[in-house]
Amino acid sequence: MDQYDIIIIGGGVVGCMIARELSRYSPKVLLIEKASDVGSGTSAANSALIHAGYDPLPGTIKAALNVAGNRMWDSLASELDFDFTRCGDYVVAIGDEELPALDRLKSQGVQNGVSGLKTLSAEEVRKRIPRINPEVSGALFAESAGICDTFAVTIAAAENALHNGVEIRLNTEFKGFIIEKNVIRGIHTDREDFGCQWVINAAGLYADEVMHQANCRLDFKITPRRGEYCILDPDLFRIDTVIFPVPSEKGKGVLVFNTTHGNTVVGPTSEFVSDKEDKSISPEGLNDLLKNVRKLIPSVDLRWTIATFAGLRATGNAPCPDPAIHYDSDFIVESAQEIHGLINCAGIESPGLTASPAIALRVTELLKEEGVRLTPNPKWDPIRKRRPSPKHLSESERQKLIEADNRYGRIICRCEGITEGEIVAEIHAPIPARTYDAIKRRTWTGTGRCQGGFDMSRVVNILARELKVSPLEVRKNDPGSEFLFRESKAIGGTL
Ligand SMILES: Cc1cc2nc3c(=O)[nH]c(=O)nc-3n(C[C@H](O)[C@H](O)[C@H](O)COP(=O)(O)OP(=O)(O)OC[C@H]3O[C@@H](n4cnc5c(N)ncnc54)[C@H](O)[C@@H]3O)c2cc1C
Repeated sequence: MDQYDIIIIGGGVVGCMIARELSRYSPKVLLIEKASDVGSGTSAANSALIHAGYDPLPGTIKAALNVAGNRMWDSLASELDFDFTRCGDYVVAIGDEELPALDRLKSQGVQNGVSGLKTLSAEEVRKRIPRINPEVSGALFAESAGICDTFAVTIAAAENALHNGVEIRLNTEFKGFIIEKNVIRGIHTDREDFGCQWVINAAGLYADEVMHQANCRLDFKITPRRGEYCILDPDLFRIDTVIFPVPSEKGKGVLVFNTTHGNTVVGPTSEFVSDKEDKSISPEGLNDLLKNVRKLIPSVDLRWTIATFAGLRATGNAPCPDPAIHYDSDFIVESAQEIHGLINCAGIESPGLTASPAIALRVTELLKEEGVRLTPNPKWDPIRKRRPSPKHLSESERQKLIEADNRYGRIICRCEGITEGEIVAEIHAPIPARTYDAIKRRTWTGTGRCQGGFDMSRVVNILARELKVSPLEVRKNDPGSEFLFRESKAIGGTL
């Protein structure tokens, strides 16, 4: 059985940030992920906002890690080379009755340590956001809020961890703990057993089930809370900021926001569901979206939608200081009381993306408090560079790239201008992309107006060629999602 000092369960943004943080030190670390790629769970389906930190209730772990995390994103983005912009966000009050909520949020933000919060008059909001509901009565502007490329963040953190010595095993599912006299000695997976002294539980929606395997917090339960979104055609509707309504008892509410790739998105809804895999889109959800988004911007039409998607918040039942706000439970980031050798990161719903680098720091502190010797890794390198993307290069740089490799001159995704060279680079990346969705997350192939109509068959062929498999074996994501069922006709040979 292979031995490690620390095993991380889950390759979402939280697990990958923890892996990167631990790679500053010298322990032998393994990260396991049950899917075929990192960052394909909740970390791939969220609003990608770096929250300022006025929303969580003061005194919660959520508030502290939100604000601490927010401050880390400039250096994180420059070290890991992903898109991040501090564009600020607005909470907009409609009608006089919503105005007091802005003062409450501002005072909460100040208590949480958020700087750069400004209250704006209705007139100022109308000037800054001309399409806003004319019944606007004011807004809170938070200049420290931002947007990021949520897909790139997780990949970048994982690649940097790998580069600094962390082992990553994909397609490897945690099944149970190896426990001796109430001390964790290792884990069982669906592939093999691994020995270790510490396990970090970063299993997202399944973090409750993982901790229950160690008889830990048996009363803690995660109930998925689904959020549905519509991505609008950028040629028909575009904004360049982030607009929240005032929060309700259901959460932060349906917002209108821009992405780092220039799309405008509306969502998410907030609905508890029973199935941890239920990412369906419902007619009720879409009606709810339309009603709520029109309260902010009356001219939005959901017929402009080019794609829909849903994400599942890992809402836990850890007590919240204000029982009146039933949707909100606190994060759990703690050493298990019931057993030695387990740290749980659970109930990491929004703002978990924002907080992820601060969660990683907290986990490292917890390990130190437990007496784990973390000696600095003398070869630690914080830098990870993105792979070339011709559309972001100057004309001369692009020409040079194409001369070196003409696949960078062959467009595969017309809407987003993605080339064969970029797709091939991801298939052979340090953490290889093996499915269509992995290529999509990393390059944004298929995310434009035609939603894969033009590129999909070409990407399938490229994946088959590079992975040396039959196109029949190429999948969209999980096993069972193969695109092609059987060969129907052969033109000049077989598939
Ligand atoms: C609708 C919505 C909007 C959001 N918007 C924002 C936002 O704008 N800003 C923000 O800061 N946060 C936001 N969040 C929250 C943020 O997305 C999450 O907090 C964050 O992605 C959680 O990351 P994670 O690593 O804990 O979970 P995940 O990304 O789900 O990762 C957990 C991983 O563990 C793996 N796993 C599970 N069980 C096992 C097992 N048995 N063995 C091996 N691997 C396993 C899973 O496959 C998964 O990859 C939003 C969330 C949702 C749903």
